[in-house]
Amino acid sequence: MYTENNTQSQDIVCKVPVTEEEAFKILDEIFTLEEKRMAIEETKEEFTANEHFELGMWIRNNWIYPPEDANNDTVERYMKCYAMLTGTKPDEPMLEHPDSVSGEFLGRYYDHLKESVHVNDPAIPVRRKPVKCPHCGSKVLRIQYGYPGHEMMEAAERGEILLGGCCISPDSPDYGCPTCGQSFIKTVFYDR
Ligand SMILES: [Zn+2]
Repeated sequence: MYTENNTQSQDIVCKVPVTEEEAFKILDEIFTLEEKRMAIEETKEEFTANEHFELGMWIRNNWIYPPEDANNDTVERYMKCYAMLTGTKPDEPMLEHPDSVSGEFLGRYYDHLKESVHVNDPAIPVRRKPVKCPHCGSKVLRIQYGYPGHEMMEAAERGEILLGGCCISPDSPDYGCPTCGQSFIKTVFYDR
């Protein structure tokens, strides 16, 4: 799920976030929707404990320790990131050992997932396919059911459809958001 990165290239350095928003965005791209779904089914305590040596380790290796040949700007970016993770100011001395700093941040990321992931929410009734997801603004996709053949797999990989699995029932959702997992069910409304 995570790759440990010891490469000291510029683009890795640039990925060190200095705001919480940047940090959440990077992590949201690393986690798949399924992983997010599993994460929010854990309690915050379980999540932070289980991710201590997983995501926590990845954060420490990638965002806290500047590469040995880092220049001043790079070190400054790592220090700002450290401050963001610990909720301190960049000019404050590093009081906590880097190995323990990610715990509290993992809790904040868990809260963010709880707020932004809607995969367990009930399907929203709609008359037709919504263009955009009301939560996150992503393009809503049609959910296709049945055992996926070659064509269906390719369409899913291109981000054109979502795979709904083999079982379909009257309350299976028709559309879904690929980013936050909100589902939608087509309902016929009888006016007049
Ligand atoms: Zn969404």
